[in-house]
Amino acid sequence: MNFSQIPGQKAVIDRLRSSVAENRVSHALLFYGPEGSGKFALALAFARYVSCENRTAEDACGVCPSCVKYDKLIHPDLHFVFPVIKKKSGTEPVSDTFISQWRAMVLRSAWFSLSTWTEAMEVANEQALIPVAEAAEIIRKLSLKSFESDFKIMIIWLPEKMNAETANKLLKIIEEPPARTLFILVSEEDDKLLPTITSRCQHIRIPAIPSGDLSAHLVQTLGIDRDKASGIAAIANGNLVRAMELARDDESTTIHLDRFTRLMRTAYTRDIHSLVTWSEETAGLGRERQKSFLSYSLRMIRENFILNFNGRENRLVYLTRAEDEFSDRFHPFINDRNINALNREFNLAYAHVESNGNTKMIFLDLALKTMRLIR
Ligand SMILES: [Zn+2]
Repeated sequence: MNFSQIPGQKAVIDRLRSSVAENRVSHALLFYGPEGSGKFALALAFARYVSCENRTAEDACGVCPSCVKYDKLIHPDLHFVFPVIKKKSGTEPVSDTFISQWRAMVLRSAWFSLSTWTEAMEVANEQALIPVAEAAEIIRKLSLKSFESDFKIMIIWLPEKMNAETANKLLKIIEEPPARTLFILVSEEDDKLLPTITSRCQHIRIPAIPSGDLSAHLVQTLGIDRDKASGIAAIANGNLVRAMELARDDESTTIHLDRFTRLMRTAYTRDIHSLVTWSEETAGLGRERQKSFLSYSLRMIRENFILNFNGRENRLVYLTRAEDEFSDRFHPFINDRNINALNREFNLAYAHVESNGNTKMIFLDLALKTMRLIR
């Protein structure tokens, strides 16, 4: 993670760089601010900068052994602590229990939310915490001599997920850490941290990303066009995690529209062979994606009915440009004669998918009923 890859935080980056240049890096930093502002990415870029053997005024060199290990998140003097899930049996987990899932997630993107992380641990509905066993791990790791670099760095992501017992065990080491140790606490809810912890840290506020920077970043990293990027940035409100989700949803809208269009075309032309292919392909998707497609179809059917009913002039219709182009020709086919039956069939398919029905049967049945209803 380079500083230059982090959008919208120039002032903070300048401040961090000058603390290194002036040799006054505090031994405990608290990065705090809203979700998606880049706190974790900054912590990582800063740790890499501090550890680099050949840094410039601007950034870490990117090629020294330290940078190379940082880029794979395997530097022996870089430690991570993050909330984890207690498994049903066995020993109490600590961060190292999940370190490979953690590295894989961070290497995909240094912008993530707690739900991204619990999904990566594959335990989406559990409460993630930093358990008391972690405190002993932190103390043990920091009491080791540093292996390769001047600094041992401990990045604690979401320290508010520690209970008081864990936090109390860490007070002493955060206040008086072993020489050349740097704590970086990355918090989204700093008001939930114990004052005894926060009073031992230097506070650095990481604000939401200005929407111009956010939108430029989307254009650059996702290759989407400027209009779309600024639309997304306006909704995301300075949160890059949210912006990425919105961009992804947009992508799945395109895929859903394509699937919906193919169903309606083949149903209209009574191309049974293609309908069977369509239903087999759709049956092969995961159930969540199938449900998402069926909800999408219900929305398209509803919007096209309204379009047909109100006419294009007085429309109360919410469609993307691609949906609008398709609906322009499609809407006459959704009318009083079939709207209720179509609604019923798509809702029924949704209920059957949800109750673990045979999806090959469900989608073939839906395709054939659509063929009967659409003309
Ligand atoms: Zn370097």
